[in-house]
Amino acid sequence: MPSSSKEPLYCEVCGARIAGRPYRAIVDGVEMILCASCYLKLTKSGRAVPVRERPRKASVSEKRRRTMRRTLELYDIVEDYYDRIKEAREAKGWTLKVLAEKLKISESLLRKIEAGKLKPPVDLARRMEKILKIKLLEPTELEEEEEENLPPGTLTLGDIVVVRRDEE
Ligand SMILES: [Zn+2]
Repeated sequence: MPSSSKEPLYCEVCGARIAGRPYRAIVDGVEMILCASCYLKLTKSGRAVPVRERPRKASVSEKRRRTMRRTLELYDIVEDYYDRIKEAREAKGWTLKVLAEKLKISESLLRKIEAGKLKPPVDLARRMEKILKIKLLEPTELEEEEEENLPPGTLTLGDIVVVRRDEE
């Protein structure tokens, strides 16, 4: 009585609908769902390596985390965000209180932001952009994937190239 048999499964090798239980195996380095006959054939010939445990949850959540991170880092707040906000607000003749109300945030939070003590989160910055008709968000360069394994420091991409060259 398999509990997850609502969706029909198809063998990823021969394409046949899997009637019984699906088998998992690594075929040519890729984890696949196989029908019984492909599973037997390929494991016998050594082309497939059986997967006994279920797919690791860690890898799924890790992927999700990475995707989330990438989305969050798509935009960056401009350096002089506080000046732009304050200038735009004053140009409109709005007090801190008025703008805070429009943004649905507290006046003290807005004051901190305008003082440059707090970077607004992306969603708030978007609302500010709309309400104040200013630009606060810049697309970030998507290079952090390369750099995330580096220790925090001041190495630039140029330095890394030089270091690698010296090692050879
Ligand atoms: Zn098959």
